[in-house]
Amino acid sequence: MEAEYKKLELIAGLEIHQQLNTNKLFCNCPSLLRNDSPQYTIKRKLNPVIGETGIIDTAAAYEKTKDKTFEYQVFDTNCLVELDEEPPHKINKEALKIVLQISHLLNAKIFPVTQIMRKTVIDGSNTAGFQRTVLIAHDGHIETSTGKVEIEFIALEEDSARKSKSTGDKTIYSLDRLGIPLIEITTKPDLKTPEQIKETALKLGEILRACNVKRGIGTIRQDVNISIKGSKRVEIKGFQDTKIMIKTILTEIKRQQECLKNSSCKLEVRKSLPDGTTQFLRPMPTSARMYPETDLELLKISKRLIDETKKNLPKLATEHKSFLSEFGLNEELIKLILKNNRIEDFKTLSHTTSDKELIAKCLTLFQKELSIKENKTPEEISEILNVHTLEAVLEKVDKEIAKGDIKNVLQKLVQGKSFEESIKKSDINLNEVTKNLIKEKPDLSIQAYMGLIMGKYKGQVSGSEVSDVLKKLLHIT
Ligand SMILES: [Zn+2]
Repeated sequence: MEAEYKKLELIAGLEIHQQLNTNKLFCNCPSLLRNDSPQYTIKRKLNPVIGETGIIDTAAAYEKTKDKTFEYQVFDTNCLVELDEEPPHKINKEALKIVLQISHLLNAKIFPVTQIMRKTVIDGSNTAGFQRTVLIAHDGHIETSTGKVEIEFIALEEDSARKSKSTGDKTIYSLDRLGIPLIEITTKPDLKTPEQIKETALKLGEILRACNVKRGIGTIRQDVNISIKGSKRVEIKGFQDTKIMIKTILTEIKRQQECLKNSSCKLEVRKSLPDGTTQFLRPMPTSARMYPETDLELLKISKRLIDETKKNLPKLATEHKSFLSEFGLNEELIKLILKNNRIEDFKTLSHTTSDKELIAKCLTLFQKELSIKENKTPEEISEILNVHTLEAVLEKVDKEIAKGDIKNVLQKLVQGKSFEESIKKSDINLNEVTKNLIKEKPDLSIQAYMGLIMGKYKGQVSGSEVSDVLKKLLHIT
């Protein structure tokens, strides 16, 4: 396979955009996506601005021919900055710090002084007609199984408005997303195989998720620039899912080969579709897109801020995994702890008992089960079974509480019983009760006995206890 890509002279680079989990980049509005009705809407027409080089961007001109009207939905979580009626505020320091952290994790060099730029936007997705972007770092690298992958640039920019409807010559955008801070990471075009592209995307994703970034669909966008021998560069935009990455790239290679045969390949931007094919979007923008943001001063990044962000860098999931596996946890529990973001809680609780698996279960599996059983949201459960409560319970394990009773104790707590009440052992002699029941009603199934006992002593005995006693008395192994 690899030799085949070599013959094709496959060259690819990745560009990743990830939303940061802070307020907006150039105003203090919350980065909140809205599903309700807007407060009001405004209308604008597109006016392409002449770039520094004096050439109207070809892509801008292409869009201009369409003579579209843009309508913007404004919410009470927007201010005049998103409407382009007020100059941008100073750059969000919290967002800047996150990008500096990520830059350190990517081994990149940070610019001490940098210029905020305006990038011409041609589809109306920005009320100003441009998007603000600022280069923060350059020349980084990450390690992959096939060697170093170089990071060309790391930038901080504002997200565009969200397209909510497009009909004929009118496009409606929602301003809720406009201005959400995005980190942009661009690798050098030295990725040689689809597998390497995927591995790089996954690795970058892991680094991003170790920092304070937004999670879930729509918060990350991955673009692949790809070309093969004799064919021009094509940008495949909008990968949400690395799972379809290889398939999409292979399809694109095939398409480029076909293009070459018919000598019909143009410089194109294509959009990644969920089925692994691509679709024509618009011509590639040229360098005429960028010019300086005159409303803002040069951005100085002090050595103090650089050093401060370098301290206490977050750990990556793979580092967490090896840390957790040292406690003898199985892969499923490790996954659950990382997925539910409970690693700090696990560390806090690790002194309570030598049974680390029990700690992990209390933080994950048991909470999920109780959420279903007691018909409460996972948030409600984790609020009741917070780390302090769990600490108090786990410290009593093997002293006042038997391991097998833990789930029962947690259930009582979730039901609203006091701590003392929850950890109190039941006075029921389960053995006696079960024996008498079997004598009274012989020849029932184990499930039937179980149902009868649980029905009678609900909340006082645990299912596993009853099941153990029944199995013993009925001689079932
Ligand atoms: Zn605002």
